[in-house]
Amino acid sequence: MFDYIIVGAGYAGSVMAQKIATELNKKVLIVEKRNHIAGNCFDYKDESNILIHKYGPHLFHTNNKKVFDYLSQFTSWDIYNHKVLAVIDGKEVPIPFNINTIYEVFPDTLAKKIEEKLLNQFDYNSKIPILELKNSKDEDLQFLADFVYEKIFVHYTAKQWGMKPEDMDGAVTARVPIFVGRDDRYFNDKYQVVPSNGYSKLFENMLNHKNIKLMLNTDFKEVCKITDDGFELMGSEFKGKIIYTGQIDELFDYKFGELPYRSVDMQFETLDKEYYQDAATVNYPNQYNFTRITEFKHIHPTKSNKTIILKEYPKAYDKTKDTPYYPIFTDENQEKYNKYLEYSKKWKNLILVGRLAEYKYYDMDDMVERALEIFKEIIND
Ligand code: UDP
Repeated sequence: MFDYIIVGAGYAGSVMAQKIATELNKKVLIVEKRNHIAGNCFDYKDESNILIHKYGPHLFHTNNKKVFDYLSQFTSWDIYNHKVLAVIDGKEVPIPFNINTIYEVFPDTLAKKIEEKLLNQFDYNSKIPILELKNSKDEDLQFLADFVYEKIFVHYTAKQWGMKPEDMDGAVTARVPIFVGRDDRYFNDKYQVVPSNGYSKLFENMLNHKNIKLMLNTDFKEVCKITDDGFELMGSEFKGKIIYTGQIDELFDYKFGELPYRSVDMQFETLDKEYYQDAATVNYPNQYNFTRITEFKHIHPTKSNKTIILKEYPKAYDKTKDTPYYPIFTDENQEKYNKYLEYSKKWKNLILVGRLAEYKYYDMDDMVERALEIFKEIIND
């Protein structure tokens, strides 16, 4: 009855389902254990009509026209340039730490000297990862690196990951570099947008096809059984392909141990005022147990005399009750993941894709690009 079973209705699963259903004209069953589609992009309006991102702020940004055009089939967009302020020494300053930030936190003569040195060594509008700037031989740039490391990165990263920046893959802190320019936006990509009617609607449109059947509130293992080298669907051998976007360690019953994740407690508050803060997100690297506060009205402007804010409290992931948000990048964890990956190859009709199944920190656009690539591989198979 089905040619493909797709586990999970986030970007990875939904893009694959849409392509298979429309371009291959094959029948797809999506099995999703939550009571909604859209994965961690899921959003909804509360009674004050404010659109809330249930699993934390999702801001779409990309330079990839192919990805942008693909998603544009399912939504119109509102232009939205995300801005983030960080509170350091009681002052709200723009991050990524850029030349404007330098002038806000240092006296003018020092700021000027640092600016000149940066522009001497790096191209205008270039991005320098903090761990790279820390290796600088110049004493003023060393001073800048130590300042930014201490005020922006070390304590935030301790809260977010329970680790020091240098003990994890440099790509994580490189996501928020030192920016040698005056662009105060969080991202510099060409396309910076949010779906006009929200992400859930975008996913609904993507999955609205006669070849796609969706089962919510269903754990994969309730309907499928893994056999020695294949799968059963409701007790009969399943000869099609399984596209699995969930946690790979869970799929194989934690055979090689648990893969660690970071989780976050999302604490929403509704306030009786029009606005709470000056930017969509304000980071608190050095105070409180939460990392940042996001105010959704800045992302999707809404007329209301109330506002909704979200405080994010990172924590270790407990598989019995938490959402696995972030894979944790250490060599040890990667080795464990590789064991699962190698083991999974025994199942020739199993395809792993997604943040959880691939144990990778994909952004939304990278995830869509990856799913489109895997779809091409399926066609060529
Ligand atoms: N980061 C930090 N201080 C900040 C912002 C980010 O130390 O004020 C570091 C932290 O390790 C974080 C990483 O940079 O996990 C990536 O930040 P990003 O905002 O991209 O994280 P996401 O929005 O994906 O949670």
